[in-house]
Amino acid sequence: MKDHLKLTSKQEKTLKRLEEVLKQQNVRLTKGRLEILKIIIVKEHPTLNDIIAVLEETGHKVNVMSVYNTLDMLLDKHIIYANIFNGKQICYEPRVQESYHLKCDSCQEVHHIDHLGQFGEFFKSLTKSSEVVGWNCDHFKIEIHGTCPKCHEDLLKKNH
Ligand SMILES: [Zn+2]
Ligand SMILES: [Zn+2]
Repeated sequence: MKDHLKLTSKQEKTLKRLEEVLKQQNVRLTKGRLEILKIIIVKEHPTLNDIIAVLEETGHKVNVMSVYNTLDMLLDKHIIYANIFNGKQICYEPRVQESYHLKCDSCQEVHHIDHLGQFGEFFKSLTKSSEVVGWNCDHFKIEIHGTCPKCHEDLLKKNH
């Protein structure tokens, strides 16, 4: 069996936080489920196929249906989020309170930003505005489309 996934200290913290949320909901994290959650934390925005590939690489016996069931459960408990960036494939990521995605419509790259800095307050005020109509907001997702620096540069060169 190959080396297990190595989590950075930040990823370790994310895992602990999510495990705590699961515990509060009385969900037992079996070894298999834990491994899937770790993959989602370590690999940025993996698809179902990516997750299966990592499981196989690390010497796990893969049962696609049970991977699927685990993803379903984690989604249901708001432990992970599902995103569709290219209109086709679903990518998973750990739950975060605040984040947004920059998507390049030219090369399809997705950039994840979770430090909102001074804009954090602005985003929070957006959820506040929904409370006015009686909603209790859990989280929000924002996707900003455009061209990444590299594609933008290529485009300028082409038009020159
Ligand atoms: Zn690009
Ligand atoms: Zn993300």
